[in-house]
Parts: sequence; C-alpha cells; structure tokens
Amino acid sequence: MAEPSYTPPAQEDAATPEEPQRRAFGWCAWHEGHAEGVRLIDVIEQGSGSGITHFACGPCRTIYGLVPFADR
Ligand SMILES: [Zn+2]
Repeated sequence: MAEPSYTPPAQEDAATPEEPQRRAFGWCAWHEGHAEGVRLIDVIEQGSGSGITHFACGPCRTIYGLVPFADR
C-alpha cells in the first residue's frame, strides 16, 4: 500500500539544459550566409518528400521580427 501523503523528491533532471540547440551552426536564409545560433523559423510543406526549412540567425531574427517555429 502506498502512502498518499509521501511524495518522493524529483530533481534528477534539474540540471538538463533547456536549449541544447542554442548555439547551433547553420545556414541563415535571410542574409544568405552561415551563422552561429541559427534557429528554425519556417517549414514549407510540399506535396511529397521533405519540406523546405528556413533557418535564421540571431541578428536577422531581431531585424525581421522572426519568431522561431518552436516558440509559436
Ligand atoms: Zn542572418
């Protein structure tokens, strides 16, 4: 029988970082060059096969007011 008043401490994942992809290096589609810290902005679905993905770096997200796909 489990005692309802007892709650075991759950802090084994306390040190897990929130954004493992924060400093991802990749292609920025807005200034058309490689940059550090790019994030996925848009996915354009196609009829078949994989969609077209657009990544943007930090400065371009600020300039163009872009919202990362995962933050919507
Ligand atoms: Zn850029």
